[in-house]
Amino acid sequence: MLLCSPLKDLYHTITLKLDYLVQIRPPKEGVLNAYQYFNMKIFLLLLSLLLSSLVDAHELYVRGQMLHFLNNPDLSAESYQYFKDGLLVVHDKKIKEVGDFSELEKTIPVGTKVTHYKEGLILPGFIDTHTHYPQLDMIAANSGGHLLQWLEKFTFPFEKKFKDQRYANEVANFFLDELIRNGTTTAMVFTTVYPEAVDALFKAAEARGMCIIAGEVIGDRNLPEHLIQSPEKASKETEQLIKKWHQKPQSRLLYAITFRFAPTTSPEAFQKIEELKKKYSEVCIHTHISENQQETKWSNQLFGTKNYLDIYDCYHLLSNKTLLAHGVYLTDEEEQRMKTTGTSIAFCPTSNLFLGSGLFDLKKAEKNGVTVGLGTDVGAGTSFSMLQTLNDAYKVLQLQNQNLSPLEGFYLATLGGAKALALDQKLGNFLPGKEADFIVLNMAGVTPLLKRRLSYATALEDKLFVLMTIGDDRSIMATYIDGKLAWSQK
Ligand SMILES: [Zn+2]
Repeated sequence: MLLCSPLKDLYHTITLKLDYLVQIRPPKEGVLNAYQYFNMKIFLLLLSLLLSSLVDAHELYVRGQMLHFLNNPDLSAESYQYFKDGLLVVHDKKIKEVGDFSELEKTIPVGTKVTHYKEGLILPGFIDTHTHYPQLDMIAANSGGHLLQWLEKFTFPFEKKFKDQRYANEVANFFLDELIRNGTTTAMVFTTVYPEAVDALFKAAEARGMCIIAGEVIGDRNLPEHLIQSPEKASKETEQLIKKWHQKPQSRLLYAITFRFAPTTSPEAFQKIEELKKKYSEVCIHTHISENQQETKWSNQLFGTKNYLDIYDCYHLLSNKTLLAHGVYLTDEEEQRMKTTGTSIAFCPTSNLFLGSGLFDLKKAEKNGVTVGLGTDVGAGTSFSMLQTLNDAYKVLQLQNQNLSPLEGFYLATLGGAKALALDQKLGNFLPGKEADFIVLNMAGVTPLLKRRLSYATALEDKLFVLMTIGDDRSIMATYIDGKLAWSQK
């Protein structure tokens, strides 16, 4: 459809509302009959087409300091571009150009509004490669125990609440708003066993124009009754959800075949997952691995394997569209197998510290060639903020005599995450043609302490380090999603 962006949005919003009306009162008995509904859609389409010929395509000009990455700064010399006074040009939701304001100024059409963030650093949107939306209301649950005790005591009982569609909708909306407020524009998200809960998240993401990857959680053993599902039922529901949501037209939604971890997945369930992946090779796989020593030992005992990764490997689930959260106890051999297959890890430092799971060895993973992204892992993770996630990542590395430079930290939170989710062809930096998700970080300081401390930092790297250590959601001045302002500080 040759509609320019704002009109396409308008057409899409109105038809979504129309579809919603029809869902609650079907055409036969409701306010519209099927014929009127069809006519209304045709009318809206024609009206949008007519108006689109009168309006220019949507362009956006944003000025400020500008930073984006081309490669991992820890592995490559020319890894980033920084403009002290830069201009970002967005055309029809895509990046058109980025560069020095003085050079690009002449390309700005006369009378065009330029949004100028004088104290802002413009960065690609943060990418959270692993989080759980059903755990929103149990973040900071005081368990005193490690992973398996925490799951039994809090997570499993809590997920029962998501049978209630209204609760699921409310949580999904709050969860995504919280991501946006923290500067996260893309996330790979765990849901739960109920398809209604998956619908709730995808609907909320669609309404916000967000790129969200999610899926129903498959599990058929070592779980309480309310979370157990037969592999046949789970497979059928997964297939329906893939057809409903994966790459839905006019949306940025992607599906991930999701299962909790090996101990809750029987060989029969794995066979179904393998069949699904074979049939829908373009969708992602999302699960956990080697988060905790007890879990790792238990998994190998259940499947008679030497290495945890062998379980996923033997069902052909490793690929560049597979994201495994944690990987704290992976061996060199497992990581090398991950490199060969393109499988990625989500490094979740706040969660690993909160549950006492262990210290992820980032430098070993990098040496073995594994692609690593950052994950908040809410609610075992203790913050939605990727800045706070970097704060703990730095400390986790310090405890292993490793260093996380601020440049590598911000790379992991942006392009690194896009690579881990196999989205780097369309997200993660400001190369022309990429989708326009970006954020503005306040470089002057939003709290008295930040103001004071940042006044002593002159180099870019020093400022970034201060922000990733004592910055949080308050440092995010604005979040743009799909070329539009989605949120800004008042
Ligand atoms: Zn998790």
